[in-house]
Amino acid sequence: MFTDRARIYVRGGKGGDGMLGFRREKYVPRGGPSGGDGGRGGSVILLADENINTLVDFRHKRKFEAKPGGRGGMSNCFGAAAPDIVIKVPVGTLVYGEKAETPLYDLKEHGQKFTAARGGRGGRGNAKFADSVNRAPAFAEKGEPGEGRWLRLELKLLADIGLIGYPSVGKSSIIARVSAAKPEIAAYHFTTLSPVLGVVSVGEEASFVLADIPGLIEGAHSGAGLGHDFLRHIERTRAIIHVVDASGLEGRDPIEDFNKINEELALYSGQLAARPQLVAANKMDLPAAGEQYSRLAAHAESKGYAALPVSAASGEGLPDLVRRAWEMLKDAPAAPEICTAALPAEDGGAFAIRREDDGTFCVTGRNIEKLVSM
Ligand code: GDP
Ligand code: MG
Repeated sequence: MFTDRARIYVRGGKGGDGMLGFRREKYVPRGGPSGGDGGRGGSVILLADENINTLVDFRHKRKFEAKPGGRGGMSNCFGAAAPDIVIKVPVGTLVYGEKAETPLYDLKEHGQKFTAARGGRGGRGNAKFADSVNRAPAFAEKGEPGEGRWLRLELKLLADIGLIGYPSVGKSSIIARVSAAKPEIAAYHFTTLSPVLGVVSVGEEASFVLADIPGLIEGAHSGAGLGHDFLRHIERTRAIIHVVDASGLEGRDPIEDFNKINEELALYSGQLAARPQLVAANKMDLPAAGEQYSRLAAHAESKGYAALPVSAASGEGLPDLVRRAWEMLKDAPAAPEICTAALPAEDGGAFAIRREDDGTFCVTGRNIEKLVSM
């Protein structure tokens, strides 16, 4: 099973408190201030790793809280910094704030890192506050609280080719035949509820990733049914295999189906509709498919697409489909980037003053709150 969305909570560790202390030594009656600084709290970091394919692990563990930094010690000893927590996520994971529409970050290369929650800075010990006026400061700073927030993770499939087509045309059957993927195959619609990826081997060191994605239905571009999810997944594929049921079972017309699906694609994104597309006329083993096929192939060709007769049931035509798909990929453009946005700079200096009902003033703002808490 393949999961492509997760919600996690991340919190950086609090910085260690600074120490309040003075030297106490024999023959030194009034030792100076000697309280050390607190250590930095651990941060929570997301790391893109090509060996990870799903977000499924986040079903079991969703909270990631780094440890606090150590307290500052006497004799100018600094507190220990807490270790960072590193969470591995698949390459291609998009990170969103809880409600935000635009991603905070796109982890699109192996090894890329994103600091999801910064650990707090350690508080300064009283030794740091000594100056010529106040030689023995009787205060130390507290550690800065760690950042905490909920994040949404989304994995856009990095498949080379997406299989599209109406429900029950045989997409799952095809991916099961040409790869080791084990999708659900059934005679009823909407069997495929979550995407299935399969690696298709074309020859030595030649392979591509094929994605079987929930069926596209009419009205998909406006978010009806499974359609919207479907389109989201297919955005990053470089080319498309458009599967059509050439047998025209269930009273459907293959040409009408073919046109409707392409209209949906174009309505959602012109870019998507412009991807290279190969038409797989499936179920050629059924008697009705013979006459329909020539009509469909001629129609597809008139729109500039090549059509191939195949049968997922008998396997006929599939090696040819794989070979042609591979050739199509060679000329296909690279996967489009969804987002390269860095975190927008936060204006930590901004603050707001509000008057409460009972007359007290309430001041909010990142830097000012940090100042008070430390
Ligand atoms: P999907 O919804 O597009 O993934 O379609 P499925 O792969 O689940 O197939 C739907 C139904 O069509 C299943 O009952 C399959 O056994 C059947 N089917 C798929 N491919 C063929 C084929 O080439 N020939 C025949 N006769 N039946 C097929
Ligand atoms: Mg299916």
